[in-house]
Amino acid sequence: MEKIIIVGAGFSGATIARLFAESGKEVIVIDKRENVGGNAYDCWNKNNILVQPYGPHIFHTNFKQVFDFLSKFTEWEKYEHRVLAAVRKDKLVPVPFNLTSLFMLYPKDKAERIEKILVDEIGLDKKVPILQLKKHENAEVRKFGDFVYKHIFYIYTMKQWGFKPEQLGSEVMNRVPVYVSKEDRYFTDEFQFMPKNGFTELIKNMLCHPRIKLKLGEDANREISLTEDKIYFGGKELEGKLIYTGCVDELFDYKFGVLPYRSLKFKFETYKQPSYQNAAVVNYTTSHKYTRISEFSKFTCPPQENTVIVKEYAKPFKRGKNIPYYPIPIEKNHLHYQKYREEASKYKNLYLLGRLANYKYINMDVAVKNAMELFDEINQAEE
Ligand code: FAD
Ligand code: UDP
Repeated sequence: MEKIIIVGAGFSGATIARLFAESGKEVIVIDKRENVGGNAYDCWNKNNILVQPYGPHIFHTNFKQVFDFLSKFTEWEKYEHRVLAAVRKDKLVPVPFNLTSLFMLYPKDKAERIEKILVDEIGLDKKVPILQLKKHENAEVRKFGDFVYKHIFYIYTMKQWGFKPEQLGSEVMNRVPVYVSKEDRYFTDEFQFMPKNGFTELIKNMLCHPRIKLKLGEDANREISLTEDKIYFGGKELEGKLIYTGCVDELFDYKFGVLPYRSLKFKFETYKQPSYQNAAVVNYTTSHKYTRISEFSKFTCPPQENTVIVKEYAKPFKRGKNIPYYPIPIEKNHLHYQKYREEASKYKNLYLLGRLANYKYINMDVAVKNAMELFDEINQAEE
């Protein structure tokens, strides 16, 4: 029977593995890490706090089909994420920047005037990306936009990406628009939950199927070799399909050079106190080398004797030295990626999927959605 080889046991790989297994196919999932979950991997530390070694992950989606699919593998706990930005030493304001943030940073009469202008020019309850605010036809709106840009976006973005906001694809700044409202949740999606026993448990449940064979701690590229248009796996020509969710440049042995990514360094600290900060995440938008501090026990665990925080430092990616976390969405890199994409299209049974292989800055829900869509596309093509 045709075998489906899936490289990567993150959300993308696990979703498509499950769908193929349920459709009757034999599936092998390989991950070079010792655990499933990809970057969403979480685990309980010695103080019984659920921590996320690859950075803070919050689930949110507007895609009902994604929520329904994942709900087969986990129970959920309601969680609405709120973030504060440390704009000055003593000033923590809500981000996305909203009307509450405005009143916290401006004198009352000035804040009231700006509020009125924003409501008249943009509309109450509207969201507007920072770069649009800065280009608005009204000069006062533009001035306000410059203020928010300076205090919330510029320094954080330079730390995170090494690029200015306007140098990056609009999808980056559009993730965190300015709210003309008192909405203080980081996300406004319809479904906002955390999996009750964590993301790893959810993904383990997805992969728990008699037709899925899981191989952890194995680099799939040791088994894969490519000739001009054929894939070999374990020395034999692959008659089934290869679904690849790792870095595509690695798959092709960097024949067009190393694709640029942003990496991260995490510094974990434990404190003998129930709480460290006033929000689950505090973004450092004007100071410090780290971008943000996340406090895991604020995600879903009730407060305990100890608390664990993580400070996040963004770094350039160095092949073999650190992990490629974020594709860097700038035009030059997309063109570079296209060369690999074209190369991949020469193999009729190779499918690129996920944040790394598609070189796209996507959330977990989109990773699941893309995997569901690829599964449908493959099936339709075979009908
Ligand atoms: P990954 O999770 O990267 O999984 C790819 C897997 O492939 C990895 O396990 C890797 O080990 C494996 N692999 C690669 N190459 C090979 C190989 N050669 N052989 C074997 N295995 C291989 N999304 C949200 O929705 N909400 C959030 O709050 C959120 N926060 C984030 C915070 C950070 C710091 C980061 C980096 C991402 C965040 N995301 C968030 C995005 C989320 O992590 C991704 O959307 C999702 O994990 C993508 O899943 P994936 O399976 O495509 O990729
Ligand atoms: N951003 C910023 N200041 C903030 C929050 C976000 O400048 O306080 C910018 C920054 O460039 C960041 C992007 O918006 O990379 C997306 O933010 P998000 O919180 O979605 O990033 P992620 O959690 O994916 O790292």
